[in-house]
Amino acid sequence: MNKEVKTRSGGTAPANWFKAFGFFWIMERRPRRGKEGFNLSALGPYCSKGNCGYELSIINFDADDEPLKCDKCGKNSKIPKSINLMAPEVKKLYEAESRIDWDVKSLDTPPTDIKVKDEDDKYWLGAKIGNVAGKRIGVVYFGEKKENQTKKDYAQLFIDLDLEQLRFDPTNKNPLDDLSTLTAEFKNSTVSINSKAKHNKT
Ligand SMILES: [Zn+2]
Repeated sequence: MNKEVKTRSGGTAPANWFKAFGFFWIMERRPRRGKEGFNLSALGPYCSKGNCGYELSIINFDADDEPLKCDKCGKNSKIPKSINLMAPEVKKLYEAESRIDWDVKSLDTPPTDIKVKDEDDKYWLGAKIGNVAGKRIGVVYFGEKKENQTKKDYAQLFIDLDLEQLRFDPTNKNPLDDLSTLTAEFKNSTVSINSKAKHNKT
């Protein structure tokens, strides 16, 4: 697994294929002259049929859609974009892969002791078990990402398991601004809040 090979240009690479765009690539590290660290580059493409691994010849490094034929196994393929664009992207995909299990410490969300978090580019969601007057209550936060986040940018929902109730904090954002119906299925009952209830409230 940790085996290394020497590359033609005097660098090193892990003895593993990295697959991207339907081809195999070798991720090469070359020491930087007079500097610390190394240069990373994607060498390839190599044929990915079975474990063929034959180096495919590129004639025009700027051409899109160049047809490639493997001289070892005969497989015909086509590169989806020019090799000059593709190789730097393979390198970035490789680097992204090495960050895949990084934790997210978001500066976008309010500093509460949220236990579960998820987000996309526009919204974030958090959940935790809170303790209110000796009772365990599930709390769900749901909001829009904003640079200067205020209480009115996110909703706070309380799921009371003992009383089988679903409530939201009126001092925060009304969750029905973003959602049309909220439903909680408890052991003995199902509770829904819909936008009609919102109208009744106001
Ligand atoms: Zn091949």
